[in-house]
Amino acid sequence: MSDPLLDRPAFKAAVFARDNHACVICGAPADAAHHILERKLFRDGGYYLSNGASLCPDCHYEAEKTTLSVEEVRAACRIDNPALPPGFSAKAAYDKWGNEIHSDGTRSRGPLFNDPGARKILAEAGILYDGTFGFG
Ligand SMILES: [Zn+2]
Repeated sequence: MSDPLLDRPAFKAAVFARDNHACVICGAPADAAHHILERKLFRDGGYYLSNGASLCPDCHYEAEKTTLSVEEVRAACRIDNPALPPGFSAKAAYDKWGNEIHSDGTRSRGPLFNDPGARKILAEAGILYDGTFGFG
């Protein structure tokens, strides 16, 4: 099934329509059309329905902190063939900010490792500390 690139209003409308305007995690009213993988990772903005999820404020914060995983959000949306940013592998796991997550739970620095917004939220989550993932 094709998954056309949308503009911002069409993305929001399509995501909310698919999810019945409810948070896909907890069922509360959704207020955000969340980018499952950060839109800055995409050269085209990443406004694909398969990269969107309706979330309530609380679950949105968990998804931004990456304490709610990309895989959990996709599963809740029944997304099985997601649009991926250039260079990303369907076989690898990533956090929302594009850092690869390995089987032992460690993360590799992704393209947005130095992005201030990504750093702030990962620090709040306790995932980024001393400015790193705790290694390298
Ligand atoms: Zn929720």
